[in-house]
Amino acid sequence: MAGLPFRIDLEDIRFVLYDQLDIDQELTKIPKYEAFTQDVYEAMLDEGARISRDVLYPINGPGDREGCKLDRDGNVTTPSGFKEAWKVQAEGGWIGLSAPPEVGGVGLPHSVTMAVTEMFCGAAMAYQMYPGLTAAAARVIHKYAPEAWRQPIAERMFTGKWAGTMCLTEAGAGSDVGENRCKATPVAGEEGAYLLDGEKIFISGGDSDVAPDNIIHMILARTPNSPPGTKGLSLFLAPKFIFDENFDSTTRNGAYVVGIEEKMGIHGSATCTLALGDRGPCKAWLVGREHAGIEIMFLLMNEARIGVGVQGLALASTAHQFAKAYAAERLQGSSFEKWKDPTAPRVPISLHPDVRRMLMTQKVYAETLRSLTYRMGHRFDLAENDPAQHDRLIGQVELVVPVLKAFGTDIAFEMSAMGVQILGGYGFIGEYPMEQLVRDAKITSLYEGTNGIQAMDLIGRKLRIGNGALFIEWMKDANTECGLAKAAGFASEADAVEKAIGQLAQTTMHLGGLGAQGRLDLALVQAYPYLRMFGTVQLAVEALIQARVAARVIAEKGSTPHLAGKALNLRFYVRNLLPQATALAKSIQSNDDSCLDPALFQA
Ligand SMILES: Cc1cc2nc3c(=O)[nH]c(=O)nc-3n(C[C@H](O)[C@H](O)[C@H](O)COP(=O)(O)OP(=O)(O)OC[C@H]3O[C@@H](n4cnc5c(N)ncnc54)[C@H](O)[C@@H]3O)c2cc1C
Repeated sequence: MAGLPFRIDLEDIRFVLYDQLDIDQELTKIPKYEAFTQDVYEAMLDEGARISRDVLYPINGPGDREGCKLDRDGNVTTPSGFKEAWKVQAEGGWIGLSAPPEVGGVGLPHSVTMAVTEMFCGAAMAYQMYPGLTAAAARVIHKYAPEAWRQPIAERMFTGKWAGTMCLTEAGAGSDVGENRCKATPVAGEEGAYLLDGEKIFISGGDSDVAPDNIIHMILARTPNSPPGTKGLSLFLAPKFIFDENFDSTTRNGAYVVGIEEKMGIHGSATCTLALGDRGPCKAWLVGREHAGIEIMFLLMNEARIGVGVQGLALASTAHQFAKAYAAERLQGSSFEKWKDPTAPRVPISLHPDVRRMLMTQKVYAETLRSLTYRMGHRFDLAENDPAQHDRLIGQVELVVPVLKAFGTDIAFEMSAMGVQILGGYGFIGEYPMEQLVRDAKITSLYEGTNGIQAMDLIGRKLRIGNGALFIEWMKDANTECGLAKAAGFASEADAVEKAIGQLAQTTMHLGGLGAQGRLDLALVQAYPYLRMFGTVQLAVEALIQARVAARVIAEKGSTPHLAGKALNLRFYVRNLLPQATALAKSIQSNDDSCLDPALFQA
C-alpha cells in the first residue's frame, strides 16, 4: 500500500522465543512438546509470516474500505478475500494452533502460538477476529459443553468448518455483566435444552460467511428464578443451524443478526446485534452447571485478555515497522547541522533527531511488550506441564494480566498515533496504512473489559490475593532481575529500575492504606494511573532482561545491530520513559480528590 511494505520483526520474535525463553531447549523436555524441535518452530514462523504477508495483509486495507454487509435474512457478507483467507488458515491448521491434536489442533505451546497470532493480527486485525473468537468459543466447548458434543463440535471449530462467537454484552449490560437480562426457559422433557429470549449487542462475527456450515454462539443468559447479578448467569450454546446426531444442519435456529454497527475501526469485523427468539424459537443448550456462567468465563478470562494484549503488541509493532520504512525513504529538510544552507542535500526524515526519538519510543515499547507477552505465554506452557509449579506460575500471570491488557493496548494506540506523527500529513490520509492502525487499535482498550475495569481488577482483586502475596513475589522476581542485570554490566540502569520497583511498592502500600481508611473513592480515582505506573516499571524490567540476554548472546556468537540495540533500548527506556513512573507515584500519592467534588458533572 502506497509503497509501504508490511514487515514482521522476525528477528526480535526469534530472539524472545529462542534466546530469552529458550523454548527450543526447555519446552522439548515436556513430553507434550517433545516433537517440536527448532526446525518445526522455524517452519511455523516462516509459513505464518508468509500467510500474514501474502494472504492477510493484502485484504486488510481493502477490507477496511469495503466493510461488511447484512441482508434481510440476517446473513453477513464479509469483505472480499476474507472467506479465502479463512480457507487458507483452516486448511493449514492455523485456527487451532494451541488446541490439542485430538480436537484438530496443532498442540503448539502458547508462547509460539502468540508469535504467530502477533503476525496475523499485525497483518489484518479485523479479519483475525473471526478465527480468534472461534478458537476462544471452541476452547469453552471443549472443556464444558455436554460430553457427547465436546470433541465433535470443538473439532469442527478448531479446523474452521464452523465458526463461533462470545455473546455477553447487552444494551444495559456492558462492563456490568451482572445486568444481563436475556432469559433462558427450559424446554419441557428435553434435558439441558432451553429457549432463549433477549438481545445481545456488539457481537463480533455474530454472523459471517467465512464458515457457512454453522456458527456456534456462546451466550450468557438467566434461567427462571435465578439470583440477581453475575451469580445468576448461566452459559448456553446456541447454533445458527440446529444440527442432527451427525452434526449435519437441519433447520435455521432463531438467533438472527438484526443490525451491524457503523464504527471507528475494524470495519472488516462484523459487530452485530443478535436477536434471540424474535424470529422463531432460539434453541440453546446449557454449558457447564446452571449459574456457572460467570465462573466459566472467569476461567477463560486470562487467556482472552492476554489475547487482546497480543493484538496491542501486534499493532504497536506494525506501526513501528511502517514508520521505520517510511522514515528511511521520505526525504524532507536538510540535516540539522546544515539547516541554514538552502543548497544542502535533502535527507531522509529518519535522520532528524525528533523523528529518531519517536522511532526509538515505538521500537522500545514494541520490543518490551513482546518480551512481556511471550513470557506470560511461556508461563502458561510451563504451568500446564508442572503441577508443582502450576499455582505459582499462574498466580504470576494473573497479577500481570490486567497490566498487559490495559497498559499494552493503550501503548499500542499511542504508538499507532505516533506512527501518524512520524509520517506527517501522509499518516493522516487513507492512502497510507497508518490511520487505519490508529482506528483499529482503539477497540483493544475497550473490549474484553475496558482498561478502566482492568485497573479496578488490578487494585481491587489481584493486589489483594493472598494479602498481597502475588505482588510480593512479583517484587522478588523483579529485584532478582535487577541483580542479574547488574552482574551482566548494567549496574546504573538496574539501580534506576530497582528504585522504581521500590516506588511502586510504596505506592501500592499507599493505595492499600487508603482502602484501610475507608477512602475507596480516592483509591479508585488512582486505579488507572497506578496500572500505568505498574506497566511502566514492568516494561523497564523487560528491557533489563533483554539487555542481559543480548549481552550473553553477543559474548557467545558476536554482535549484530539487533542485539546491540537491546542495550540502547534499556538506556533509552530508563532515561526517557521510566521517569514517568516517579511522576505517577507522586500524583497517585497526592490524594487529590478534585474530580470527586459534588459540584462537578451532576447526573
Ligand atoms: C467493536 C466491538 C466489538 C465487541 N465485541 C464483543 C463480543 O464479541 N462479545 C461481547 O459480548 N461484547 C463485545 N463487545 C462489547 C464490549 O466488550 C463492551 O463494549 C465493553 O465491555 C464496555 O461496555 P459498554 O460499551 O457498555 O461501556 P460501559 O460499561 O457503559 O462503560 C463506559 C465507561 O464507564 C466505565 N465504567 C463502567 N462501569 C464502571 C465501574 N463500575 N467503575 C468504573 N468505571 C466504569 C468504563 O470503563 C468506560 O470508560 C464489543 C464492543 C465493540 C465496540
